[in-house]
Amino acid sequence: MDSSPPQEQHAETRLVTSGRDTKAQKGFVNPPVFHGSTVLYPTAEDLHAHRGEFTYGRHGSPTTKAFQETLMALEGPQCAGVGIVPSGLSAISTTLLSVLKTGDHLLVCDNVYRPSRNFCNGMLARYGIETAYFDPMIGAGIDKLFKQNTRAVLVEAPGSQSFEMPDIRAIAEVAHARDALVIDDNTWATPLYHRSLDQGVDISMQAATKYIGGHSDIMFGTISANAKAWPMVAEGIRLLGVCAGPDDVFLALRGLRTLSVRLAQHHRSGLDMARWLAGRPEVARVLHPGLETDPGHAIWKRDFTGASGLFSIVLKPAPQKAVDTMLNTLKLFGMGFSWGGFESLAIPFDCDAYRTATKWAPGGPTLRLHIGLESVDDLKADLDRGFAALKAAM
Ligand SMILES: *Cc1c(COP(=O)(O)O)cnc(C)c1O
Repeated sequence: MDSSPPQEQHAETRLVTSGRDTKAQKGFVNPPVFHGSTVLYPTAEDLHAHRGEFTYGRHGSPTTKAFQETLMALEGPQCAGVGIVPSGLSAISTTLLSVLKTGDHLLVCDNVYRPSRNFCNGMLARYGIETAYFDPMIGAGIDKLFKQNTRAVLVEAPGSQSFEMPDIRAIAEVAHARDALVIDDNTWATPLYHRSLDQGVDISMQAATKYIGGHSDIMFGTISANAKAWPMVAEGIRLLGVCAGPDDVFLALRGLRTLSVRLAQHHRSGLDMARWLAGRPEVARVLHPGLETDPGHAIWKRDFTGASGLFSIVLKPAPQKAVDTMLNTLKLFGMGFSWGGFESLAIPFDCDAYRTATKWAPGGPTLRLHIGLESVDDLKADLDRGFAALKAAM
């Protein structure tokens, strides 16, 4: 299902070859980490004209350029620019501040990352920007929610806790007819498995903290935009003054180089674990769009070329104390909120506390799992122990 033009090399190749300037790197494979604020101009005339490839530390360096070129090559020909920001949440806030103004109306998918909601309900509301939330499964029905002043739609596909899969193509068609921008939080699939800019999305953001970094050791965000949206994003980044530390940029670039092999393993192991869990008597439901039985499967198959290692399960009814005992028993599954690294994770969650457009009633305790790069046999053995502890604690 590769929709790329024939002249384009495969994504795996582009991830390895892009953004490399061997000569400038004196033969070394990787660019150096430029630690820098001041950039010196050779002449007064250059200074007056702000002439030069690099002009100020905040605006970029050879290290950030190498990262941006590589991510742009992965995003594909629709990508007009990549912005670098210090975290995934900063990618969201910077994007929204770049494209919205007082008096605007914003539509947000009810399954988005909770801090995205907090930003809309907190800061955007204070600046007189109104947010309305919509059912992730709304599809073309979103038309009814548009107002004269609706400027943008924010989606997350799939939502990173509950895993409903919005139909981005249908939403984008309506949004563009209404002259609104479509913004996608593409952290779950990354542009390797979801070329959202090819599917009607104008701005595709990622918490590169997750799979791009891939080793749970950086905070980093990216904003990729098409030709229509990039000037707004570029101006927003410049006005807000956001940038990222050079060591984190370097680690994010290093992460991109191996993204294809890591994600392929997360995809395989994630689906293997999801299928195994679907057959367990303790599990009522597995929320993973890669499963044929999942309500989002058809959209996933149409728009995505793979799945990452993050999904959720609904347990059969059990007291929270018994679920906590299970979590405390697990040795390979750690408890923590970020994900996308090499290690497996399990956390309880409850979206009901904050959803407004839809009711979240899973019918049992919910756990979000990140399947890391460990052997799935060992992960199954770990969960086996956990389920035995759950049963014993009921
Ligand atoms: C983690 C996450 C973010 C925020 O990223 P940070 O780098 O932690 O700020 C945004 N969106 C999604 C879907 C995430 O999972």
